[in-house]
Amino acid sequence: MKRIYLAFAAALLAGCAAGPPIDTTYYSLQHRSRVQWLIIHYTALDFPTSLRVLTQQRVSSHYLVGERPATIYRLVDEDRSAYHAGLSSWQGYTNLNDSSIGIEIVNLGYEGAPLNRTWPEYPPEQVEAVVALVKKIVAEHGIRPDRILGHSDIAPQRKTDPGPKFPWKRLADEGLITWPDAARVASRIPIHEALLPDVLWFQDRLAQHGFAVPKNGVLDEPTRRVVAAFQMKYRPAVFDGLPDAQTAALLEVLTTP
Ligand SMILES: [Zn+2]
Repeated sequence: MKRIYLAFAAALLAGCAAGPPIDTTYYSLQHRSRVQWLIIHYTALDFPTSLRVLTQQRVSSHYLVGERPATIYRLVDEDRSAYHAGLSSWQGYTNLNDSSIGIEIVNLGYEGAPLNRTWPEYPPEQVEAVVALVKKIVAEHGIRPDRILGHSDIAPQRKTDPGPKFPWKRLADEGLITWPDAARVASRIPIHEALLPDVLWFQDRLAQHGFAVPKNGVLDEPTRRVVAAFQMKYRPAVFDGLPDAQTAALLEVLTTP
């Protein structure tokens, strides 16, 4: 009884919440990080506004990467959940906030009407900061290459970030994410040019890749958004959401072991 009282008093003195005494002499060999996903965003806001929104409003992320200078700010500890993913899904997993780390990058996102949008570049200094940060997080938490994703991957109906200017290929070159082999893709393009697979094939393959996508064989708006999200990442030159031979080849190579 006396010992408990002393521990309680010590906890109070240390400014901690009171709790039972815990003996940490022993430690198990078997454990892993709870973090399984890394989600990349742009803020669509300038730096001061990004900082204000992410620290004082109802959204947050673990990291914020400035533009110039590309300072990396940690806004939420990695062992706490931040509110950056929202309604989300990948490979059948949902509610990715609780098991992910979020990186917000200061970038204004798109400007202009849907058919005439412009997207600002990510400055090289900022890209280097993001790559270094992703490497560090992946090394510490053992995050799988197929679980380093954009917000537009896990919420394609609502989100376009980090957008077509984000250098996914650079992450692939660093060995951080999987990338479709260029020679295999080139060899499949003529086959799909001769006969483009139907919409259901695209929907099946997009689902196999990880997206939440309708499976109705119809090129409806939700399906086009998913196709566009895929193109934005792997073929950012054209991301109109329309199935074509190159998109089919990329998708086929990514989903065929
Ligand atoms: Zn986002």
